[in-house]
Amino acid sequence: MPSVAVRSPAKINLCLGVGPVRRDGFHPLATVYQAIDLYDEVRATLQAPDEFSVVTHSLAEEHPDVPVGIDNIAVRAALLLQEHTGVSAGVALAIRKEIPVAGGMAGGSSDAAAALVACNELWGTGLTRAELEPLAAQLGSDVPFLLHGGNAVGAGRGERVTPVLARGSYHWVVAVAHEGLSTAAVYAEFDRLTASRRLPEPVVPDTLMAAMRSGDPEQLGAALSNDLAEAALSLRPELQDTLDMGAEVGALGAIVSGSGPTCLFLAEDEPHATDIATALAGTGLCSDVVQARGPVPGVRTI
Ligand code: ATP
Repeated sequence: MPSVAVRSPAKINLCLGVGPVRRDGFHPLATVYQAIDLYDEVRATLQAPDEFSVVTHSLAEEHPDVPVGIDNIAVRAALLLQEHTGVSAGVALAIRKEIPVAGGMAGGSSDAAAALVACNELWGTGLTRAELEPLAAQLGSDVPFLLHGGNAVGAGRGERVTPVLARGSYHWVVAVAHEGLSTAAVYAEFDRLTASRRLPEPVVPDTLMAAMRSGDPEQLGAALSNDLAEAALSLRPELQDTLDMGAEVGALGAIVSGSGPTCLFLAEDEPHATDIATALAGTGLCSDVVQARGPVPGVRTI
């Protein structure tokens, strides 16, 4: 059976400004995304019309937390493309997960972007990336960014993306927590913590844009920010120990990734990243420690 394989990166947020909840239940965001070289792989194999299935696996083990069937966002992406184009074809999706599940790195969103690109090619539906974008936005706020990758500003609820011209390739250390955190729970905690505060409309800090233009990791490290960190730390106070440990071993910046609980550390260069990763791995604070580079392109056929 014909098949198409793609790989799709994880995202990190170099800043994540969150405004007061909107009437439609979403929070306005002002974020800068960066795609990093931590990839899921999605293989789409042609099936008889209207047959949809999914299996997921990681390098080492089955993934009990990733749903199969229609609850998997990659299947929803395939069905949306089918509905939009009117094509009558089915697909079997095999997903190899390397992006931490429920880790604040948009793993599900990345698989959705991957499924859109893979099925579009497999079914010969011929949509351009620009034509896939509105479908991506329907699937989730982070999905349009993952079609493009690189560095981009995200506005609206994160789905309106504009590429950022920036210098530099950065070395990150990704500390994966023992247990995932639900994005919805972190936003609910954010709402609780900020209920009596007047939240300004979120903006991307000028210091971050200047750091990205400079390409200087030290400037970038100092400019990293995340408005969801307080809520993630309120739900998982032990994450502070992970952040402190990274700072102690000289990370240029230490932040919670998106809605957490993954923590990110910026290193000066590859040897420095290895030092940080080694120090973190020895603490037992995290279930896995991974080194990654960014920015990288979005979903690509392999
Ligand atoms: P985000 O950063 O976009 O808020 P996340 O990275 O924290 O999300 P995901 O890994 O995308 O979280 O998973 C969130 C939940 O979505 C999982 O707990 C799982 O139940 C569900 N899910 C559905 N499809 C997938 C998929 N293909 N991969 C991972 N999780 C999926």
